[in-house]
Amino acid sequence: MVNQDLVYTPIEKIPSIVRCARTAFDTGRIRSLDYRRKQLRQLAALIDENREALNAALLADLRKCPNEAQMCEYMTVKNDIADALLNLEKWAAPQAVAKTPAQMFNRMQIRKDPLGVVLIIGAWNYPFALTIGPLVGAIAAGNAAIIKPSEISANIARVIGDLMPKYLDSDAYIVVNGGKDETTALLQERFDHIFYTGSGVVGRIVMAAAAKHLTPVTLELGGKSPTFVDANVDLGAAARSIVWGRFLNAGQTCIAPDYILTYASVRDKLVRELKKAITEMFGEDPQRSPAYCRIVNQNHFNRVRQLIPSAGVVIGGETDEADLYIAPTVIVDVNPEQPIMKEEIFGPLLPIMVVDSPDQAIRFINSRDKPLALYCFSGTSSVIERFATETSSGGFVGNDVVTHFATPALPFGGVGPSGMGRYHGKFSFDTFTHDKAYITGPTFVEKILALRYPPFPEFSMTM
Ligand code: NAD
Repeated sequence: MVNQDLVYTPIEKIPSIVRCARTAFDTGRIRSLDYRRKQLRQLAALIDENREALNAALLADLRKCPNEAQMCEYMTVKNDIADALLNLEKWAAPQAVAKTPAQMFNRMQIRKDPLGVVLIIGAWNYPFALTIGPLVGAIAAGNAAIIKPSEISANIARVIGDLMPKYLDSDAYIVVNGGKDETTALLQERFDHIFYTGSGVVGRIVMAAAAKHLTPVTLELGGKSPTFVDANVDLGAAARSIVWGRFLNAGQTCIAPDYILTYASVRDKLVRELKKAITEMFGEDPQRSPAYCRIVNQNHFNRVRQLIPSAGVVIGGETDEADLYIAPTVIVDVNPEQPIMKEEIFGPLLPIMVVDSPDQAIRFINSRDKPLALYCFSGTSSVIERFATETSSGGFVGNDVVTHFATPALPFGGVGPSGMGRYHGKFSFDTFTHDKAYITGPTFVEKILALRYPPFPEFSMTM
């Protein structure tokens, strides 16, 4: 793969870059709704006018084909931009609140204040959507932002770094490129919010650094997203959904179905349907399919390959190191103690574990970290309802996978170890907004409220 050199931002420049964004915020121009709309339109233009460069970068980084890039990288961001442009006036308007008689002469509102300068740290697997998506909310809410794309997807990081200053206010929205050292330097600066997408390990580093400045954080992390398949479901339809969600981006998707829980009586039929779906989508040899991505780099290739157990592979299992290719792989007879069932796979492997009942599946899910997503395929709505209410996960989808990511109407985020905070649509706006209590009124109100002043007459105040 053509990894074009990514020029890292000099570390010594980082404090002045953050100061530049703060100065831009302090001018007040960023607060105007017209300004925000203009920046959002410019962001949409950046996507529309640079498809070729963006597609080429995603192809180089992940062998991501243009159709998948359109569906998973640009569309979600453009939907969020359209939603923000349509609703900005309403979202940003001061919110009226109910008054008590004591406040009848006052004006009371919840004001929607921008936070200031925010830091967005992106991940490499959906390197455009997960970096630029949060930026939509930051702009809509009236903030300045520093953006740190993942250095692992170096090509798209370079393109983002080249294009942003051509389209957006380059004093207010600044790309810092680099890896651990540059991120560490950024994290020493004071921000008004940090929005991080990536692993829990680095999430903890981000949160500890944020604590030094008492900066609030949104952490979009990962985890193992379980998928229950009931006996009474259309197995062909379930298999197609699961294959799509699991092998999209060669499995490097935070909300991919990570493992399947199903009955012994369903397992082999499901494996047949999975095989059929894999062949339908990627052909007999997925390595030759233009729609099948590659593992992002050698480290991740080695990590995923090591998770393939020596026994139980019923579909796939082939790897080609020189091509960073790992075939869509299905594994049966796994047990909870195997590495593949312990850590998030984040690659194209799909283990199937047998359970006896929905109760056992729910107990198993609840005995582990709260996942980012949970999927349940069943022909019985009460079974779907049980999985939705008796477990805790960032998001839940019945009889499909991944789709909750794609709508601005739903909050996207984790819970517990899979993350904190949420975004998309208005939830992004709220993430980057401070709800300020606001009361103002005439001074004569003070006379009415004189009762509050000491000295208090005896027994005059009752609670
Ligand atoms: P990562 O945590 O390794 O890297 C993410 C970012 O952190 C990069 O920008 C990187 O430069 C920076 N970074 C790396 N090491 C650092 C350090 N020691 N100090 C400071 N900064 C550092 O994560 P990743 O490998 O890019 O992502 C994989 C994980 O992210 C998976 O668990 C996946 O599920 C999760 N993920 C979650 C979402 C979501 O939306 N919830 C989306 C994508 C990925």
